[in-house]
Amino acid sequence: MAGLRVRSALLTGANRGIGLGLVKHFLQLPNPPERIFAACRDPKGERAQELQSLASKHPRNGALTSCCVDSVDVTDPASIQAAAARVTEHLKGSGLNLLINNAGIVKWNSLDTTTREEMSEVYATNTIGPLLVSQAFLPLLKKAAQGSPSSELSCSRAAIINISSIGGSIASESSWDMIQIVSYRCSKAALNMLTKCQSLGYRQHGILCAALHPGWVQTDMGSPPLTVDMSVQMMLEVFSKLSEKDSGTLLDWEGKVIPW
Ligand code: NDP
Repeated sequence: MAGLRVRSALLTGANRGIGLGLVKHFLQLPNPPERIFAACRDPKGERAQELQSLASKHPRNGALTSCCVDSVDVTDPASIQAAAARVTEHLKGSGLNLLINNAGIVKWNSLDTTTREEMSEVYATNTIGPLLVSQAFLPLLKKAAQGSPSSELSCSRAAIINISSIGGSIASESSWDMIQIVSYRCSKAALNMLTKCQSLGYRQHGILCAALHPGWVQTDMGSPPLTVDMSVQMMLEVFSKLSEKDSGTLLDWEGKVIPW
């Protein structure tokens, strides 16, 4: 973990589940980011209270680390653009090192019951959302890469991490007999392809792009064996080790490559 020296990080879906866990663990790092932008779609809502209380302990003008709660609905391009403008202003000429596209939804339908509307809704959140958020924050990521003393690809320099799922791996038949979740699987397969495209397109700008499967995690969406703390702890370890060879791959929470 000592290798992870991120000055600024932004994550979506930061108010609960894995996103909230990531914020907590970032704040506990020996070298925490100076700026954490914890984005969620309803910062004033009931479900953002724990995040708000965490952020209030790390105020905007805090000496070491600040945690700002920002408003981003990943299906709303205007909210994404507005957040990018606020973050740009807040960073005062510095870049953004790490963007984590974490927000996601699942619909528990089968091959026979999945509808057109459901396919569109899940795709809008899980695939189009990460595309638009990455586009909006690209100038800040490029700036971070250009300003870095290192020429190697890494999360400390500039990176996009898409939180994906083994359920989106075409090579794996992961849990098909138990859960079909076709819209979710298709959206994550497309997110995996987006990650590959981003890695090819953004390598020249010094930005590492990888997809990460967090494991099966006990959240509103997922179930055991992993707790949020276990998954996030291990994912941060993975972040600290990502390099050129990992860009454009799908990895699990232990850093093992998952076949597409
Ligand atoms: P949760 O359901 O606990 O949390 C989902 C988060 O996404 C919430 O913060 C939610 O916000 C946010 N979100 C949903 N839609 C939007 C939107 N339109 N705009 C902004 N935020 C949104 O899920 P997890 O924490 O378990 O999942 C996080 C990521 O990990 C997802 O991408 C998921 O696919 C992936 N994953 C999870 C696994 C698991 O076992 N838990 C397994 C594999 C992958 P709100 O409170 O406003 O709804």
